[in-house]
Amino acid sequence: MTIITRFAPSPTGTLHVGNIRTALHNWMLAQQAGGQFLLRIDDTDAARSEERFVDGIRADLAWLGLEPMGEERQSARLALYEAAFERLQASGRVYRAYETAQELDLKRKIALGRGLPPIYDRAALALTDADHAAQRASGVAPHWRFKLDHAEPIRWDDSVRGAQLFDAAQLSDPVVRRADGSWLYMLPSVIDDIDMGITDVLRGEDHVSNTAAQLQMFTALGATPPRFAHEALLVGREGKLSKRLGSLGVESFREQGIEPEALVALLARLGTSQPVEPIADRAALVSGFDLGTFGRAPAKFDDAELLRLNSAIVHQLPFDHVAGRLPAGMDAAAWDAICPNLDRVDDAADWWSVVTGPITTPDFDDETRQFFAEAGRLLNWSSDPWGGLTSALKEATGRKGKTLFLPLRQALTGRDSGPDMHALLPLIGEIQARARLVAAAAD
Ligand code: GLU
Repeated sequence: MTIITRFAPSPTGTLHVGNIRTALHNWMLAQQAGGQFLLRIDDTDAARSEERFVDGIRADLAWLGLEPMGEERQSARLALYEAAFERLQASGRVYRAYETAQELDLKRKIALGRGLPPIYDRAALALTDADHAAQRASGVAPHWRFKLDHAEPIRWDDSVRGAQLFDAAQLSDPVVRRADGSWLYMLPSVIDDIDMGITDVLRGEDHVSNTAAQLQMFTALGATPPRFAHEALLVGREGKLSKRLGSLGVESFREQGIEPEALVALLARLGTSQPVEPIADRAALVSGFDLGTFGRAPAKFDDAELLRLNSAIVHQLPFDHVAGRLPAGMDAAAWDAICPNLDRVDDAADWWSVVTGPITTPDFDDETRQFFAEAGRLLNWSSDPWGGLTSALKEATGRKGKTLFLPLRQALTGRDSGPDMHALLPLIGEIQARARLVAAAAD
């Protein structure tokens, strides 16, 4: 059977790192099986959904390389929900209720005061036709609840959490439709999962109790439920669901110079028993993806870990992958020479300016200036000009170690440290290298 997964964000804001992680895992699950990863825009909340967020979600997935093979929008599927709802009405699985938010709140408080779970008491099930007629006559429209079946315990084998067991009587019958006819998330999601042929629902553990109710909705609609997996939530390093994490999205990662590969490498394994490693090869991450390795404890997101991973990933990126983001004229040899020194691809421009010049050098003393004059005389442009120059200078001047290398680096690059000079000097080129030594000797 092919695997079909979906990522189902509500376009009421930008994706944050927790959403990105869910999207990635759904993508990986499908990818691993040669299946399909779909995007479902959960935009039934017309007041809070915005088109710019839909565009943002698509752009973020594209940047991450998680492009879906298909896209559906809940706002375009209302007729489907209506038809399924009519079936549930006909089979008596949805019922009308009228309690206001305040009344429900009071009921909850009373239940809690008596030491009972705050579950909806199903008072609306006792309403007669006359009661409904009276509500209608006074202009009050009902909202609708899904009637859970209390007879059967709800069970599923969660791919992350293992065997799950819920007593339906311990759950409130979920409201599925508001008095104005609009839909809440629960039922449309099930109808879509059936219609889109979703085989695996992988989402955060905040949805576990929704799953219990939704499993009964699948059955009530005559469908076999998909497999479910609920992953532990992502938290900040301090162990809490931080506000900052909730606002950390692709834009801020891009601004920090984070590569999508680094974010993917981190989020693919964070919270699993597999080590987080700077793996830029996505196929390797995909082939090792295993829900069985996911832990139950919250996954801790650490910016410092992401930055470390990012540097290690940047060092591996091939020239072709970054060419479009490099300054004009910077070729593969230059990238290979410079990239081991970079934490971010954008910093390549800074090192390229060192190669092309002009550079600013520190003030040198007389002895060092004579040393540069000697360097100019000894510079012999071979296949390894730096190796040749330093060994000749060592012999001629007796300098070694830092007193040999540091002033030369300063004269040739204007910096105290940086990429390996064996690789950098050929990029600077003979003419420019000579000119820099002459200038440093004359300062
Ligand atoms: N729109 C829902 C959410 O963002 C989708 C949950 C689901 O994956 O079913 O929480």
